[in-house]
This record gives sequence, structure tokens and C-alpha cells, in this order.
Amino acid sequence: MKLGANVSVAKTGLLRAVDESISYDADTYMIYTRSNRGGPARPIEDFHRDEALPLMENHHLADPVVHLSYLVNLASPKEDTFGYGINILTEEIRRVEYLGFRYIVMHPGSHVGQGIDMGIKRIAEGLNQILSGNEELFLCLETMAGDGSKVGNRLEEIAEIISLVQHKDKLGVCIDTCHNYSAGYDIVNDLDGFFQVFDDLVGLDRLKVAHINDSKTPFSSHKDRHANIGRGSLGLAALRRVVRHPVLADKPLILETPGGLYGPEIALLRGLTDEIPEERTSKSATAAD
Ligand code: ZN
Ligand code: FE
Ligand code: FE
Repeated sequence: MKLGANVSVAKTGLLRAVDESISYDADTYMIYTRSNRGGPARPIEDFHRDEALPLMENHHLADPVVHLSYLVNLASPKEDTFGYGINILTEEIRRVEYLGFRYIVMHPGSHVGQGIDMGIKRIAEGLNQILSGNEELFLCLETMAGDGSKVGNRLEEIAEIISLVQHKDKLGVCIDTCHNYSAGYDIVNDLDGFFQVFDDLVGLDRLKVAHINDSKTPFSSHKDRHANIGRGSLGLAALRRVVRHPVLADKPLILETPGGLYGPEIALLRGLTDEIPEERTSKSATAAD
């Protein structure tokens, strides 16, 4: 299994991400290349790509993932929000191609009241404006928890977006255990059933990345509240079955859990220990979505 976490790129860029990943004994990692609070992006040339790549090789860190800024909402009915999303995502594709990474994970979007069907059409319209077919990466739509007006809670919605995009060979999907369970997919009691439905609707060849999170809220709660591994409604046994499932064998599996427990949580998922680490209560530690 290829396990990693959402790591920092503060100051030294990829060198920081790699250092942090090594400290967790990780096999992969995920970063955000720009702040979710907006503002101009840090130049990607400042991420120390050329120094980081040999380090990654030496430490068996492979298939890194970039998560797109939350501020992008291609489902928005507002022209300025939609246009901002087009610009940021277009720029992000160039940035990630510069790094040589193969995966961008993005939230499909929020329809903000106009309805799921309009949201789906809008997202596809945006992706059709952005994708040329020459991209050297996969844009992976993340499955959502079913909260608010988000698009992509149901696999049917993900499939519909893909069907409307011209260069669909550039599209992938990122599942998220917390989101899927909250959206009403019972991956605790019927994981094989979930992958079967995924294959029927989307196709397992589209599945590129998985986010591995426990959930603070119950099954089908339609809430997006990540919990530490073994401390939520999914539980350790179910999450171990996910990370050991053959469908995910060679895929980057990324933790986005609260509070800086990534190292112990990765060891726990690998089965190197059965001890569930103590939660940290510090408010400063916030989970990525
Ligand atoms: Zn989430
Ligand atoms: Fe996400
Ligand atoms: Fe996620």
C-alpha cells in the first residue's frame, strides 16, 4: 500500500513536504501549492523541484498529489467566480506539470441553489474550456459528503460530469472514505459493493487517488467532519480493509485527519501497531478537507 498525508510546503516547498513525509515513513504525499485564503500563488520555481525529486526517489516517495484550492468553484452561476476558477485551475495545471506530478484533486463545486443538474453542466462547461487534451496529468474529481449544495456526492453525478467532458481521458476520480460514508455509501459493511457500484457507474480505471479519513459523524449524516483514524464512525478495522483492498493497491492513499498524528496513524493503518494514538485537542491543528 502507498500511504501518505497532506503535508506542508511552508518556506522550502517540496523539500519541506519530503522531510515531513520521511518523518511519517510515508510512501507518497499531498500538497496545496497555494493558500486556500486566496492571494497570488507562490512562484512554482521556488518549490525546489530539482533538489526534491532525487530525495523522493531515495526515500521511495512516489505519485505525489496536488489538491486544488477550495476557492475554485466551477459550479458557480456567478461569472466572476466561474472565471476565477477557470484562471486558477488553468494556472494550477501548468504549475503541477512543471513539478512533473500526475494528479490534481479538485472538489467538483457547489451549485449554490441553482440545483445539481445546472451545477453538473456548469462544471463540465468549465472543464471543457480548460482542458486541451495535451495535459500531462489527471484532473481528479473528489467525491463529496453530501453537505450544503456540493456537487459530486453521488457517483452518478461524477459519472455525469465525466460524460459531458470532451477530453475525458484527462479526468480521474479521488474517493474520500469520510465523504463516501457520510454520503450514504456503506463502505464499513460492504466495501466490495461500493467498488462494484463505482465500476458500474464511473469505471474503476478512473479511480486514481483515495483520501483516508475517519468520520466524526454517523453513516449517511451528509456532513464533512474528518476524525482521526480509529476514532470515528468508520473505525480502524474498516479503514484497514480500505487501504488493503486490491483496487487501491498501487494508488496514493492520503490522510487528511486532524491534529498532526500522521506518523502513528500511518503505522496503525499498516498494521505495525494496534494502538490508536491519543487525539490532540489543540485548536491550531486543522484538518484539510
Ligand atoms: Zn472532507
Ligand atoms: Fe478535498
Ligand atoms: Fe478529501
